[in-house]
Amino acid sequence: MEIDKDFSYTEALVACPECDLIHSVPKIREGEQGRCIRCGALLFVRHKNSLNRSLAFALTGLMFFILANMFPLLTFQLEGQSESNRLIDGAIAFWNAGYWELGIVVFISSVVAPLAVLLVLITLLLPMQLNRFPFSPQFQIRLLTHLKPWAMSEIFILGIIVAFVKLQDFADVSVGLSLIAFVLMVVATVMAYLTLDESALWSRLKEIRT
Ligand SMILES: [Zn+2]
Repeated sequence: MEIDKDFSYTEALVACPECDLIHSVPKIREGEQGRCIRCGALLFVRHKNSLNRSLAFALTGLMFFILANMFPLLTFQLEGQSESNRLIDGAIAFWNAGYWELGIVVFISSVVAPLAVLLVLITLLLPMQLNRFPFSPQFQIRLLTHLKPWAMSEIFILGIIVAFVKLQDFADVSVGLSLIAFVLMVVATVMAYLTLDESALWSRLKEIRT
């Protein structure tokens, strides 16, 4: 493990992003932030309880993911007939219409990627909460970085599904419980990413190891 070498949080040298002045940064505590002594630019921020909050957002996101898959996403009414669509039906509709590549993309971005992001976050942060070392933090953090664009694109994909559905010229389209759960899941996931402080993560891992 080369955590110490690459991610040491004590006595690190930080260059100011604005004026390039080099600062020697001592151990940073939670809730602290540092500014350049010459130009005042922000050098670093360490959020309070970053890991706990990120875990809480990830668990909330997982709950909304389950809800989003349990109820109808949209309900259409046409000439007295009512039809409900689930989250997964967006992908199936593309597949059945012959756009199987699009079906796979929609399936990955609306089901696989959001779930993967939440599970990676939880399997990384939950053991740490219980004072245990996660199975492979380096791999998990790399995964999170790769999955990030997918985690942010669901709204866009959802827009495509809704547009696709509307093009079908259905009379009445009503929003189902799943759509609300889905949007809340995306918000929770984005918040989990935003609150996760990688420096806090590495220094916590170091504490658990020793
Ligand atoms: Zn500066």
